[in-house]
Amino acid sequence: MLTAVVGINWGDEGKGRMVDLLASQYDIVVRYQGGNNAGHTVVNEKGRFILNLLPSGILHKNAINVMGPGMVIDIEHLCKEISRLKEKGVEITPDNLKISHRATICFPYHVRQDILEEERLGEKKYGSTRRGIAPVYADKYIKKAMRMEDLLFPGTLRKKLEHIIEWKNLIIHSGYLDPAIDADKMLKWLQIYGEPLLPFICDVSDYLDNAVEEGKNILFEAQLGALRDIDYGIYPYTTSSTTLASFATIGAGIPGTKLDKVIGVMKAYSSCVGEGPFVAEFFGEEGSRLRESGGEYGAATGRPRRVGAFDIPASRYGIKVQGADEIALTKLDVLSYMEKIPVCVAYDIDGERTDKFPTGDRLLKAKPVFKLLDGWKCDISSCRKKEDLPAAAAGYVKFIEEMTKYRIRYVSVGADRNAYIDMYK
Ligand code: GDP
Ligand code: MG
Repeated sequence: MLTAVVGINWGDEGKGRMVDLLASQYDIVVRYQGGNNAGHTVVNEKGRFILNLLPSGILHKNAINVMGPGMVIDIEHLCKEISRLKEKGVEITPDNLKISHRATICFPYHVRQDILEEERLGEKKYGSTRRGIAPVYADKYIKKAMRMEDLLFPGTLRKKLEHIIEWKNLIIHSGYLDPAIDADKMLKWLQIYGEPLLPFICDVSDYLDNAVEEGKNILFEAQLGALRDIDYGIYPYTTSSTTLASFATIGAGIPGTKLDKVIGVMKAYSSCVGEGPFVAEFFGEEGSRLRESGGEYGAATGRPRRVGAFDIPASRYGIKVQGADEIALTKLDVLSYMEKIPVCVAYDIDGERTDKFPTGDRLLKAKPVFKLLDGWKCDISSCRKKEDLPAAAAGYVKFIEEMTKYRIRYVSVGADRNAYIDMYK
């Protein structure tokens, strides 16, 4: 069984939580895109963990974790993330973590470039996580990046690095007028943080090909959501990689293999980190209350997230581009305080009503059309069967199903591993 768990919305839907829940049924968990701009929060019997780079399966004793070729890896961040987890008693060895030799290395100068550009943009900034993700993906596609495999050949490391830094200084130093990147310093950085990772670097394609042949169960874990996809998201307020399920096997290292199932994760309301169009947004008191109730602060950055109503046009589109076979609706419990719950059922663009998710300037002009549903005003966090849900909460789920025209399988009512309802049962 090859299953991808992906985001339907803008990210932070609770994918980490769903992967953690499902991981016990899988032998292998693979991260296939993105870098340490991801923040997956997992709460289980061992405690509360925030994962930026490591696949969420790392918290399961028997799961083997793979960081695929589609990822960009800040090796300093990875070393520190591994140490942090080890301190909490999580075992991480080359037996349960495999890093693709094809994955791209994210350098401190990528982070610096990210910051310099956001500062240059000022008011017009993109709202980047400032972790170097856009610059490093840009370098990958312009073929000026280094890969994890380069660490395996110390003899040629300096030459490769100098070659790239000479070019990079045209941007950092001559362009942004920032102090020049020092090749010696970067080499030292590579050695310090590359060395501990050497035993983990391998051809994950070989490993995964065998695993597929042996009929192993593989879970593919995405970062961010459909609406942040570089091609199909709210460009340019997207991330710089493909967040879609159809990229899962490519980014994982087994491009010739087909997925069996896609699980799309969407949240019972909306949240969005950074700039860009966010039609169903709540402001003022309405926004603060929802943000507090949902604890909507970035797992990777601590930034307060923008929040809003569940967005039908955006979510229907998200489900479609993800090709989701099963859907999880998370954080329904967060809405329990609301008397009436607004849902964005359509957009108004220049006085015309549409339920189709637009792009570009049309999206910027879209105004939300809200419908108010009844709240349930009681604690639902201990519901474990669909019969346990109060009528209004069940009605809310049903309304979303009818409007999106997709069936929901999992309804999550708490952050703990077991706090969910399987609606198929
Ligand atoms: P991801 O990036 O998609 O993995 O999601 P994040 O971890 O960034 O954000 C989801 C947050 O909501 C985390 O803090 C989870 O622990 C929490 N969470 C997940 N599902 C639920 C739920 O059903 N109810 C509540 N109250 N919290 C949840
Ligand atoms: Mg997150």
